[in-house]
Amino acid sequence: MLENNDIFDLKNCRLCPRRCGVDRYKSQGFCGAPAQLTAARASLHLWEEPCIAGDKGAGTVFFTYCQLGCVYCQNYAISSQPQQTMQPFGKEISVRELTTSFLRLQSLGAATIDLVTPTHYAPQIIEALRLSRQGISGDKLTIPAVWNSSGYEAPEMVQAIAEDIDIFMPDFKYFDRKTALRYSNAPDYPERAMEAITAMVRAKGAPVFFPGLRSGHAADDCSQPHLKSGVIIRHLVLPGHRHESIALVQELYRRFGDGVILSLMNQYTPIAGAAYLTDFPELRRKLTKFEYDSVVEAALDAGFTNAFIQQGGTVSESFIPIFDGRGL
Ligand code: SF4
Repeated sequence: MLENNDIFDLKNCRLCPRRCGVDRYKSQGFCGAPAQLTAARASLHLWEEPCIAGDKGAGTVFFTYCQLGCVYCQNYAISSQPQQTMQPFGKEISVRELTTSFLRLQSLGAATIDLVTPTHYAPQIIEALRLSRQGISGDKLTIPAVWNSSGYEAPEMVQAIAEDIDIFMPDFKYFDRKTALRYSNAPDYPERAMEAITAMVRAKGAPVFFPGLRSGHAADDCSQPHLKSGVIIRHLVLPGHRHESIALVQELYRRFGDGVILSLMNQYTPIAGAAYLTDFPELRRKLTKFEYDSVVEAALDAGFTNAFIQQGGTVSESFIPIFDGRGL
């Protein structure tokens, strides 16, 4: 039960490796999130891996605030800006309202419930998942729940939520402590993310697809098998960091082999006019094809066969969702 597990205690918040120990009913820790559940959008979202998006999209809920706070975040408006400006953003919702959003997304044909940046609201999200699976007015949640996170997680928190989450989809952003410090003020990110992902793989095991559907497919084909459970590890290759990315994918395969699905992303886009481009001039450009292809080649050479590889160009800012509270 949630109330019997100290990890869910928001009066002494230690939900993530920042372990602030603050009472979120009275103040805020590094992430800036109060105890009040706040989200920015709940809608069908096609820009996720095909095995969780299906044909109609993942049922994606974007939560406000983030405990990692990367300088280049594409969702800056909802992740770091509210914390930096102390201006609340998004819509305050109850657990019951979140439950209703989950069921509405399922009724629209969502393949999964895709929980984006969920860590700092883990207690409320798990409660909403349990409620929606028990059912409201005869309507029950039956589609998988995806924990779509930064990878900066506490292993005990991963263990506490593992029974309620079907698919873990963490990022593994950095392999070098200096990069983790520079871009996310989290020098321990490589160790903490590896511990968390190890706990995720231990909890979920190898990828399982719904019966009758095959695995192994191209990333741009949407008539694809739906994942039932497992771990997808995302890695966004950053400009100027291909050697770090190559070491990272090699280590992932050495540890987990094909017990995980790898998703290599090339979509880093400098946000025009963003303040971080002044302090981080190396991030003023997009990734080159050579940089991305060399990381893909390293992943395939390492042995990965379960991998999503992006084809074509990088995304533009217009693909960033509008965070207007719709669907909540
Ligand atoms: S979730 Fe937020 S308040 Fe809690 S430990 Fe992490 S950064 Fe600190």
